[in-house]
Amino acid sequence: MKNKHFSMGIKSKLTILISVSTFLLVFVSLTLLIIVGKGQKEAEIKSQLINAIEDNAQKIRKRNNLIVLDSSYIFKNNIYTSLYDGKKQFIYGETPLDFPVYENFETGKLKKTGQFYIYDIEKNIQGEKIYVRGIVSVASTKQTFSSLFYLVLTVLPVLALFTVLLARFFIRRTFSPIEQIIHVAQEIQNSRDLSLRIELDSKTQDEIHALAHTFDSMFNSIEQAFLKEKQFTSDASHELRTPTSVIIAQCELALENTREERTKEALQTILWYAKKMSQMTSQLLLLTKAEHYGEILEREDINLSELTEIIAEQQQELAEEKNIALTFSVQENIRISGDPTLITGALINLFSNAIKYNRPKGKITFSLTAAQGTVHGRIFDTGIGISEEDLPKIWERFYQVDKARSKTPGEYSGTGLGLPLVKWIIEAHGGSITVSSSVNKGTIFNFTLPQKN
Ligand code: ADP
Repeated sequence: MKNKHFSMGIKSKLTILISVSTFLLVFVSLTLLIIVGKGQKEAEIKSQLINAIEDNAQKIRKRNNLIVLDSSYIFKNNIYTSLYDGKKQFIYGETPLDFPVYENFETGKLKKTGQFYIYDIEKNIQGEKIYVRGIVSVASTKQTFSSLFYLVLTVLPVLALFTVLLARFFIRRTFSPIEQIIHVAQEIQNSRDLSLRIELDSKTQDEIHALAHTFDSMFNSIEQAFLKEKQFTSDASHELRTPTSVIIAQCELALENTREERTKEALQTILWYAKKMSQMTSQLLLLTKAEHYGEILEREDINLSELTEIIAEQQQELAEEKNIALTFSVQENIRISGDPTLITGALINLFSNAIKYNRPKGKITFSLTAAQGTVHGRIFDTGIGISEEDLPKIWERFYQVDKARSKTPGEYSGTGLGLPLVKWIIEAHGGSITVSSSVNKGTIFNFTLPQKN
């Protein structure tokens, strides 16, 4: 047996693919948005700072010998303006509370220390050197963006879950017709019922529906071809019945009227083959009928115990002629609902095989029991057996382990159609049949049938 490797279904693969790519797309675009947004906000703050300081520098006045800012100076966007004298001593204005003492003035240049942007310019007010310092904090911007980032991080898993669920829903919907196709194909394979169709609704016109319609029309063609072939086999076997019966009758007549040994021998050979042909045509006819018309059983309430005892007794005599001992034990009063002709045919076939493929002084044991609504039949012979390689093939039509034996006139007359017929009969009655065998030791056929209460 081959090892079965775990492989993910196409639906799971697609769900993962869609979810991961959506997740990545959202994550990357949101992160990019945050980075770009943050950059832009900082650029805006910087230009606001420069403009505000340039503006406010115009509003420095000297009043009563003191340097002050005009009352119209702007304090907005959190930009602090402060003034320093030539010795870089603070003289007027405001600085943020948490701004460190920072005495290094580089005029006309935007600098950053910690979370602050600083912009200094130099002014000359009535011969006095003044430094104007603008300070703005970017802490709040940073905070806004980092809280946005954490929001994204918490929203993303929810979003991912939602995407997975949505993807699963749509993929399931898309794939449900494929499941229907697989189901019908398996159903056809198991039940061998070629009349089954996928029959997806014809209004939808996607590729999967087109595939299902193509399959349906393919099944139509296969079914037609199959029916034609069966019809031909059925017609051919039907047509062959009359000529073979005539050959048999004429051969028997000729055999009675001839004394010439060589002619007799020739006629006997013709008779042997004609009988074989007749057996084959009637078995073929039954098999094709069975498959063609489905249930052709003419069911009756049968006392299977009585029927099998009669058959076993008849077969016992035939076995004795070949020096084979047939013993049987049949539980009383087992009843089934079945076609007596077909059940008889199946049992005779199993018995005659057990005799045919036995050895001189061999044994056959047969038992029939019933328990919990199931009838169990078992026929065991001490014959030539069947090799492990041939065992599964014996249910195929025309399969014979030793073809040469049945090609020459003699006791091993067979067609290779017996066991397929037995299997069909048992299964058509709702039962099953199995075989186990060992070369040169013997063969056991076990069958079950549903019991009738
Ligand atoms: P046939 O008409 O040749 O008996 P069957 O379909 O009844 O055809 O059986 C198919 C083949 O299975 C036989 O040719 C034989 O080789 C093998 N077979 C069937 N029953 C037995 C058995 N009881 N013991 C050994 N071989 C068997």
